[in-house]
Parts: sequence; structure tokens; C-alpha cells
Amino acid sequence: MKKASCPECGAEIEVLDDVIVGEIVSCPDCGLELEVVEVEGERVKVKVLQVSGEDWGE
Ligand SMILES: [Zn+2]
Repeated sequence: MKKASCPECGAEIEVLDDVIVGEIVSCPDCGLELEVVEVEGERVKVKVLQVSGEDWGE
């Protein structure tokens, strides 16, 4: 497993080894949705997923 840290609460997040940039993971601590922005060896950088406010409907 690779590791990321939550930019919001700082929790360590385990990310699958085959993670790709653009994938969405969620923080198990604060529940925030995070987008993978960079994969570098065993470290994964994530940013808070920006929800554009668009209504996608059901
Ligand atoms: Zn968090």
C-alpha cells in the first residue's frame, strides 16, 4: 500500500498500489473526498476534491 496524508486532518491514508492520478480516495478520519494529484514512489499527494456546485441529478 502507498500512503497519503489528509490535507485537512493530517491522517495517514492507505492507498492502493495501482492508484492513478485523478483517482478519488476518501479520508477514513474526516470523511473528506480527496483527489490524487501525484504519485511518487510510496507517497501519494492528494488535494481536497473541489465540488463545483453543479447539480448532477439522480
Ligand atoms: Zn482527513
